[in-house]
Amino acid sequence: MRSRPDFINELLQHNCKSLEYWDLSSSFDPNSNEELQHIREQNISGNINYQTSEKDNNHRVTMVDLANALHQDIAEGIEREYLVLLENTSLLMMPLGSVDAFCTQRDLERKQLDGSVIIINEGMFYGLLLLFKAVIMESLDKELLNHRSSGRLDFRNSITFFLHQDFSLIKKLYYKVGAPQVESEINGYQSAAATMILQFIALHEFGHIALGHFKQMDKNSEFINMFSSSSSLSIGQHHTLELAADNFALQALMRKSRSEQSMWANFYSIYLFFQWLDCIEQELGSPLSSLHPPPLKRANELRNLMGKLVGNAETYQKYFKNIDQMVSDWLRA
Ligand SMILES: [Zn+2]
Repeated sequence: MRSRPDFINELLQHNCKSLEYWDLSSSFDPNSNEELQHIREQNISGNINYQTSEKDNNHRVTMVDLANALHQDIAEGIEREYLVLLENTSLLMMPLGSVDAFCTQRDLERKQLDGSVIIINEGMFYGLLLLFKAVIMESLDKELLNHRSSGRLDFRNSITFFLHQDFSLIKKLYYKVGAPQVESEINGYQSAAATMILQFIALHEFGHIALGHFKQMDKNSEFINMFSSSSSLSIGQHHTLELAADNFALQALMRKSRSEQSMWANFYSIYLFFQWLDCIEQELGSPLSSLHPPPLKRANELRNLMGKLVGNAETYQKYFKNIDQMVSDWLRA
């Protein structure tokens, strides 16, 4: 039995490039990158509830805070029976070169850990910020109407970022117009939406743990990735597990919302996230993972589940059409 902190230290020290699991194509060091530092500072003004003192803010806002916040978010959404399991689960945001997320209960030599570990690549957060920048820029209204503009370029950028880990795009993450109040308002929306998707991803990974999926996979499949994995299970069986983890994540996320309207509003972002993955697959010309159902299938399964969980699906139908329309406009040359 190996301790999780020990394993995590090994991962952090390990040169990410040598971890083939993660298909790394970049070994950038976020601590030496000014832009990334800027992002971390920006996030203070976003909707991520950092509880750091002012003095610490400038330098201590790291992905550790974000990961801790996500861990807390999971705790607020899941049934009480899973809390002990969550206590024995570590969650990390790590600077991997690929945009990915996975969970494991074993170390790199496949030794059993004293719990579970969920790792989400920091890059996912940046890709999501770009995606939601596109959405938000396109939907500004009221006093921000003058700032409305097409989201197409940011949408393209989010896909490029995802596929090529082009970290030069980090410069374009945030809306800059020289009006701090407007900027921070828009950044706040971006961070809130991106964080919500991270919550969904974290809950999806925790769903694999809570639902005992590790036991259902064979000894060669200790890593369950978002986009790649290997085991002796059939593709159909894998799809069933993925949909079950999605289902778990959605239910937990909805438990955190108060009103029907906010539940549907949160779900639009999740729906858009899967539309985005679909566009990425189109661009790539192949599925991100054959072990996962196609993104649009996952989106539609979740949408059906929303109808059952929350109700009143007809009332909200038009917004999905709007999202579909917006995405297809962006894709048109
Ligand atoms: Zn999964």
